[in-house]
Amino acid sequence: CGIVGYIGHRDAYPIIIKGLQRLEYRGYDSAGIVLFDGKGTKLAKTKGKVEDLIKRSKESISLEGKLGLGHTRWATHGVPNDVNSHPHYSNSGELCIIHNGIIENYESIKTALTKRGYTFKSDTDTEVLINLIEEVKKQEGVKLGKAVQIALNQVVGAYAIAVFDINKPDEIVVAKLGSPLAIGIGENEYFIASDASPFIEYTNNAVYLEDEEMAIIRLGKEIKLRKIKDDAIA
Ligand code: GLU
Repeated sequence: CGIVGYIGHRDAYPIIIKGLQRLEYRGYDSAGIVLFDGKGTKLAKTKGKVEDLIKRSKESISLEGKLGLGHTRWATHGVPNDVNSHPHYSNSGELCIIHNGIIENYESIKTALTKRGYTFKSDTDTEVLINLIEEVKKQEGVKLGKAVQIALNQVVGAYAIAVFDINKPDEIVVAKLGSPLAIGIGENEYFIASDASPFIEYTNNAVYLEDEEMAIIRLGKEIKLRKIKDDAIA
């Protein structure tokens, strides 16, 4: 399973697809991509190989966008199928996530969210997490980074995640516990991946997140690294 993300001045699609292919050795059963083209998001996902995702994307979405997230899934909760493939949106459709790993206590969180009116399209633990982040963001009135941090403090499990808000498409929030996550730093562009192979030809300036560490990646700004258990996060 693997994660690739891009935000910057290049077309995200080819970078993400090539990156996912380089991560194929990690094993997976499904693949998906989301692109933001300045107006809105476009999403393509499918059970099968990156080859199938390429076909699906070309058939169903425009491939423009300077921000994108790509994912290969190794199913833990919910069978391998198109709907359970990542990325996943929150109920409002505003937050989008890719995730490698397992949220072990997803069931109790799902029950609590269901009571608050949330519905779920997939059987994944990941869709529960993105809705928990949405609920925290709304309830606490905090920014995305802080909402991710608060939500992850309620979660038991392992994860590498990347999240963005379609209303703030200059920012991607990432976090790691157990699963690997690297950030490549270029000139006014950032890369995200499970290892450095997807961005090695673009930059050799990389940061590897530690366990229980998160990063707020914003275009035109330095990366903000934070401990998930820290109180102080803007
Ligand atoms: N637990 C998540 C799922 O089943 C992520 C699996 C993965 O690591 O790809 O969808």
